[in-house]
Amino acid sequence: MRLSPRQIFPYAAIAACVAWILALQGPPSLPPLTEEVIAPAPAPRPALPVIYDFPVTLSLCPRLGIANAPHADLALHIIGYTATTRVNGVTLARAPVERACFSSGFGARNGQAHAGIDLYNRDPVAIFAAGDGTVREAHYRPDYGNMLVIDHGHGVFTRYAHLARPTGFSEGETVAAGQIIGVMGNTAAYRIPRHLHYEILTGTWGQQAGSFALTPVDPLALEDTIR
Ligand SMILES: [Zn+2]
Repeated sequence: MRLSPRQIFPYAAIAACVAWILALQGPPSLPPLTEEVIAPAPAPRPALPVIYDFPVTLSLCPRLGIANAPHADLALHIIGYTATTRVNGVTLARAPVERACFSSGFGARNGQAHAGIDLYNRDPVAIFAAGDGTVREAHYRPDYGNMLVIDHGHGVFTRYAHLARPTGFSEGETVAAGQIIGVMGNTAAYRIPRHLHYEILTGTWGQQAGSFALTPVDPLALEDTIR
């Protein structure tokens, strides 16, 4: 079928109008040229340590004769226990462990001075840095096993003994409160149950005796112990 000129005219008129409008608009505009800036790749950052919360309650270990045991209720929860204490203005965990019970207190024990507290668990649970600080000692001793000492500044230090393995930390490395620093063990030159021997120490660091020239403080003592 052929279309007559009268039938074609409306379509031709529309096509002409479209062509005229496009011609008025000119060529499609291009975005302005800009200098492409390629951002440098971010430098790889060291993985941040995972930070754990300190236990908010602590119980006496059942069926153990505990030297210098603090007061506890019938469920063996230590009365008045708080997760942290403050020594010389430094906030420190009283029990920097994943999970444990209290197995020995601070003070005279069997005719000797027990310079810290013992925290027991049958399982190899994680040990945390009690506060922000810098590693001052990390080595093995026959009496303390794998041992770590952290310097928290303001003349305050913490010691962690009998760790299951060498910690891998070197002197001068920084640690954050709640960061895992080791695993509870029973490393010593003699047979002992798995536990953390934990000390809070105060004083001025002596190059000769190192941490053993410092003065121990009871981690369960009252808040704001000033030495
Ligand atoms: Zn101990």
